[in-house]
Amino acid sequence: MQVELKGSCLCGNHSYKVTGEVSGFYHCHCSRCRKMTGTGHASNIIVQPGELELFGDKEEIGVFKVPDAERFASRFCKNCGGPIPRVARQMQRVVVPAGTLDHEIDFKPQCHIFSDSKVNWSCSGEELPSFSQYPE
Ligand SMILES: [Zn+2]
Ligand SMILES: [Zn+2]
Repeated sequence: MQVELKGSCLCGNHSYKVTGEVSGFYHCHCSRCRKMTGTGHASNIIVQPGELELFGDKEEIGVFKVPDAERFASRFCKNCGGPIPRVARQMQRVVVPAGTLDHEIDFKPQCHIFSDSKVNWSCSGEELPSFSQYPE
């Protein structure tokens, strides 16, 4: 499905436009996503192949790469700390934190991932399939 997604950080210093093909929409329960969001799980839309256009001062975007992680990094606004979409250029893969969108979307998360790491107070959403890591 082709999409055009628009969103911004909490303070509005950074906004973005992502265009491309939605390849996944996951609730991720891994401990890294919990730490990053401060909530029970992250909700990320994967756009691949996708293009990310950022509006705002790129110097004011922070990046934190988890040292022992293969691909986990967070990008955030240095002013408000809010997440900003991140991109793996070699894979043309854009990860959009769904909560940063400024509009409704007409598609839904497809599954829970890293469900073995789920904490027992997180929302259940049992109607969706669960995968202990990434889905096949
Ligand atoms: Zn901000
Ligand atoms: Zn995760």
